[in-house]
Amino acid sequence: MTNDNQFQSGRPVVFRNGLVLTMDDGHRALRNSDVLVQGERIAEVGPNLSVPDATIEIDASDGIVMPGMIDTHRHMWQTVMRGYGADWTLTQYFVWYYLQWGKVFRPQDIFAGNVLSAIESLDAGVTTTVDWSHGLQTVEHADAAVDALQSIPGRFVLAYGNLQQGPWEWSTKPEFRDFIVRRMQGGGDMLGFQMAFDVPDSDEFPERAAFEVARELDVAVTSHVGVRGATTDKGIRAMHENGFMTPRNVYVHAASLSDDCYQRIAATGGSVSVSTESEQSAGQGYPPTWRLRQHGIPVSLSMDTSVWWSGDLFSAMRATLSADRSREHLEAHGRDETVTHHHLRAERVVAWATRGGSQALGLDTIVGSLEPGKKADVVLIKNDSGPAMYPLLNPYGHVVFQAQRGDVHTVIVNGRVVKFAHQLVGVDLSKARQAVDQTVEYLQNTLGEEAWVEGMHPEIPEAKVLDNPYTYTYTAGR
Ligand SMILES: [Zn+2]
Repeated sequence: MTNDNQFQSGRPVVFRNGLVLTMDDGHRALRNSDVLVQGERIAEVGPNLSVPDATIEIDASDGIVMPGMIDTHRHMWQTVMRGYGADWTLTQYFVWYYLQWGKVFRPQDIFAGNVLSAIESLDAGVTTTVDWSHGLQTVEHADAAVDALQSIPGRFVLAYGNLQQGPWEWSTKPEFRDFIVRRMQGGGDMLGFQMAFDVPDSDEFPERAAFEVARELDVAVTSHVGVRGATTDKGIRAMHENGFMTPRNVYVHAASLSDDCYQRIAATGGSVSVSTESEQSAGQGYPPTWRLRQHGIPVSLSMDTSVWWSGDLFSAMRATLSADRSREHLEAHGRDETVTHHHLRAERVVAWATRGGSQALGLDTIVGSLEPGKKADVVLIKNDSGPAMYPLLNPYGHVVFQAQRGDVHTVIVNGRVVKFAHQLVGVDLSKARQAVDQTVEYLQNTLGEEAWVEGMHPEIPEAKVLDNPYTYTYTAGR
């Protein structure tokens, strides 16, 4: 029997003898324990569970069973350009997407990127992904984005945006409202909705109109804020003074704000989506968890875009814990002090990658932890063919610093097995790749070879090696 047939039967599934990180409020870590999935939900968690007849048993021994991870900000449409901008700064990204080439993307290109990105999420154990979709220059593009998300059995949130227009333009059009009625209402908890737009510095605050639409539609808003040189304190103050900061707001990056603005975020109950790999490379500001912790601001994690970075939250967790500690050491060394005990622990970062996301998205009663009654979004990290998953001593540390997406053995979303024994189940990757090939070919033709190559290889500024008063004196044979 193939994997596909076995798992399409609707039979219950039990993970046996795993190290279960429940990520419940008590953060219970249960060794030699089971997780039983029945229908769409988690039925039971504990040792030696008795299960219904015909339950499919998955051996989770020497593995970690944890909630599916949640990415609160990913420009999924950009996955067709995977790795293209590895050497970009934010400036080059803005020029390429906002000024030059973002407008040439057709609906089928949005579709192709979203499908590949959605598959990538499942493969890496990311069971909920926010599609921060700012390439929706027409409603046809938005339809293509949703078609893609609905074709892959993951949990998604469409964050609707359009970098070709001001949010006060696209959000007030009748076809935008019509789209919500047609595509987003009654979608259940597999496809959520947000509005995605930023508030760059200006005195007029034209984004007011878009915030008013969001308020009227009762939709959460997600915004890139604290992006050095683009969205600064001024935008936060405009949002706050006009009453548009609520507990449902998700602030992406928030990497270069003043204490005053962190206080406004903390006081209004919103959360920050931290994309550490992005902030380290692109230049929004220093990855902000070390400051968010000081202000008690809730954190979730995100990957931003695969134009540069990886699409898995193991990388996000690792980069985030490392950047936070790096900063703590740096600040201490500046005071001629030594850090003897880290403040930030691996356990908390695993919570950011799971509960942090479910809380940020208002989905915390549905997913984010392994508790009976919640929807079954479950990941088994296990790899018996390599050395890195053994021994399992410190499970949170293992998830953050040892595991990687190749170790994701089984993934369940909404009770459905979508990956088993390191193989995707019921997902047509070759079809997804063909669609991406067509988009890449179209883009290469549209840009022409010169622009295509130039875009991938920004100029390197001149660098001078420092003078060295010492000279090389080693002589062989002496
Ligand atoms: Zn972004």
